[in-house]
Amino acid sequence: MSPRVRDASGSAEASLADLLGLLVDEWSLLVIQRLLLGDRRYRDLHAHLPISHAVLTSRLRRLEESGVLIHEAHDYAVTPAGAGLWPVLLAMWDWERRWGADGASLPVPRHTECGAELRPNACCAHCGEPVVFGEVDVEWGDAGGWAVSLPGARRRPHARVSPSGSRVWFTPEVFAVVGNRWSLAVVIGALWGMRRFRDFHIGLAIPPAVLTDRLHLLTEAGILATTPSAARADWWDYRPTPRAQELALFFLLALGWAARWWPHTREVLTVTHRRCAAPLRLLLTCAACGATVTGASVRVDSTIIPLPHHSPAASASPTPGES
Ligand SMILES: [Zn+2]
Ligand SMILES: [Zn+2]
Repeated sequence: MSPRVRDASGSAEASLADLLGLLVDEWSLLVIQRLLLGDRRYRDLHAHLPISHAVLTSRLRRLEESGVLIHEAHDYAVTPAGAGLWPVLLAMWDWERRWGADGASLPVPRHTECGAELRPNACCAHCGEPVVFGEVDVEWGDAGGWAVSLPGARRRPHARVSPSGSRVWFTPEVFAVVGNRWSLAVVIGALWGMRRFRDFHIGLAIPPAVLTDRLHLLTEAGILATTPSAARADWWDYRPTPRAQELALFFLLALGWAARWWPHTREVLTVTHRRCAAPLRLLLTCAACGATVTGASVRVDSTIIPLPHHSPAASASPTPGES
């Protein structure tokens, strides 16, 4: 992806909850994706996304307020912070391809440097070692805590079919997990050690009826697995499955993105690679050739499902607004 980048503007005080909120809102990510692919004009965005004017306008405003895009006259463009989202998008895409019901039918990303299908591995920028979920420590600052850092409740988008009948290129199952505030909270809680109903209920301040519902849905979806509790015969422990553990990469990339562009979010929590004791900064490397993946070295093999308009490779020469 070769985004055209402009300076970030204002919005230095976006909270971690606001920023994570952008990343668990499918429409916001689709708008960012279109901008990264080269769309500039409002009418291009509207033409390429199965989205109402009201929803598109509200998402553009929210993204601008957060400092992810800027708007001049009739042109929209991602800021450097918006351009910095590509690893998060790539991680979501990879998760969907691995675990989603329709994963096999999604477009295939390729690494231009070696030509192989791109499977990103996450490595520590400090020590270079692969980052394993169990070797990452997350610690809250004085003002931190999942309950205050998770995005606020929003309605999930539901339409995933464009007016022309082609599917929007994205990741529905990721959003089945993270597109709901409480599901997201429970998954993160489980990833970082919560096991029992009471842990989630108290630690995340989730109402019991909602928690029961979410635990059931996440277990059915294969994100959590239950085992009998050692404490009492009629209790269950909820553990994250490998599917959930691979989602941790998405969260870590999202936290790293926020910390990179909004330094005040580093005060909310610190993320440390236990193996080298350095603050965690993730690099994505290509599983085939081992090289560090850059946004410009990802292209889409769209022979399976054509992208809505043009591929990231085509965006190297940005589409004029008058297309
Ligand atoms: Zn390290
Ligand atoms: Zn490669």
